[in-house]
Amino acid sequence: MHKLKVSKYLQIVPRRKDFAVYHSLYGNLMLVDAEGKAVLESFDGGCSIDKAVKKFGTYDDSVIWSYVHDLRMRDFLVTDGCDEYEPVRNDAARREQRYEKGYLLRVLQLVVANTCNFNCKYCFVDTMYESEEREILQHRSENMMMTFDVAKQAIEGLLGILGKNGGSQLNIEFFGGEPLMNWDLIKRVLETFQNRSSDNVELLYSVTTNGSLITEEMAELFGKYNVTVTVSFDAPGPHGHAVVHREKGSDRVRENLEILKKHGNWVTFNSVISKETIGSYDGKALIDVAREHGIAMVGLILDLDLAFYSKSSQREKVVEELWLTYEYGRLQGVPVVGYWYQIFSQIVGRQPINLLSGYKTCPATGCKVSVEPEGHVFICKCCSGYLGHISQPDAVLSSEKYRQYAMQVYRNAPGCEGCEIEGFCSGVCMGALEKKYHRTDIIEKSSCEVYKGITKRLIENVHSTDVDVHYLAGR
Ligand code: SF4
Ligand code: SF4
Ligand code: SF4
Repeated sequence: MHKLKVSKYLQIVPRRKDFAVYHSLYGNLMLVDAEGKAVLESFDGGCSIDKAVKKFGTYDDSVIWSYVHDLRMRDFLVTDGCDEYEPVRNDAARREQRYEKGYLLRVLQLVVANTCNFNCKYCFVDTMYESEEREILQHRSENMMMTFDVAKQAIEGLLGILGKNGGSQLNIEFFGGEPLMNWDLIKRVLETFQNRSSDNVELLYSVTTNGSLITEEMAELFGKYNVTVTVSFDAPGPHGHAVVHREKGSDRVRENLEILKKHGNWVTFNSVISKETIGSYDGKALIDVAREHGIAMVGLILDLDLAFYSKSSQREKVVEELWLTYEYGRLQGVPVVGYWYQIFSQIVGRQPINLLSGYKTCPATGCKVSVEPEGHVFICKCCSGYLGHISQPDAVLSSEKYRQYAMQVYRNAPGCEGCEIEGFCSGVCMGALEKKYHRTDIIEKSSCEVYKGITKRLIENVHSTDVDVHYLAGR
């Protein structure tokens, strides 16, 4: 009989009345009681099932057999001597062989306008980059507004790639600056491509906007083509307005939210917690406003400036604010999400892990490309590494830069090995790492504490009705 042993990736999080156990590469979280944990730990150092069954003689043999079977299915127990990292290594080898064909691609970010009618203090576009190509393109007048021809070339190029790979969905993100400054283009794209290609690929759209330029016509077309409207909205301060930039969250934006509501649009908020906002951040007020306007989901985004994470008191405050907003949102029926939440979501199995979905939290690890108004391609609006021009999609996919981004999905950096959230966390935004370190395969330890801290808090408090519970006592 084979011996089984406890996976070296097993994580145990003590909670008030039980324990959460999960695998740090595959998730599969479940709640166990002290007896269940004892069964699991009886395999420490290797043990046969028969021996374990004898140790727990007060239970019927079949109960322990079935309990152990479940622990094996979740990879919490593994055959003694097996190479536990092998499935990931195999997946990486497959990815390495196939990424150039574009099988990972499913998101096209169209930067349709490199200009904005707001002037937020924390806007990243003027401070984020570190490459020559970004420096040149950022200020070139020809790179301010995308033409329909470029958008068409990008969409058709990606549809062609998806067609060859049997892909069934393309997510098109209208991004900026403020994308609605190029409304005519967005309208033409929606009316031309609609929601299904001639090859039967489904087209899903989203727009990330400051919300100030929305009109009835836009809301109507967004409804018609199921465009997710993500409004960048600062948490309101003590006087009901956004504190950092009074226009974000202003009366005008709130009136426009009502237009979207009237047309039954799917609207989400993106709100930034950064050094500029944290002093006056009020998550409760944010959720209340979201509820008032029928917002489907609130995304909380963390500062892209790594200096933000340097003070431990600030990190603790971030974790606290994320948690309080999440919990209040839950009570009010407004889901609160973000990359930090996606880590937890993969651990509990609500979202597929990277081996199935192609990425962890950051789709810019090969699953998306970002096209500038002139057709130049980057992996994401936040990143600096230049990939080529959309007129030559094959050259983009075979570029060394694309390979680097695509292959970074398993471990963000060698130092991630053994981390309790290794299989689910993409680390801090790669654009921020490029800016500070001129490379992406590095860990920013201070931000890791935020990701690990909020994950632990979510796991410690997850409701037993929301996850698998396998108590042994009483069976
Ligand atoms: S609304 Fe967005 S794009 Fe415009 S200045 Fe503010 S952060 Fe930048
Ligand atoms: S980036 Fe940090 S928190 Fe994320 S997996 Fe790596 S070590 Fe862990
Ligand atoms: S590179 Fe940064 S902004 Fe872009 S998808 Fe990844 S985490 Fe998000």
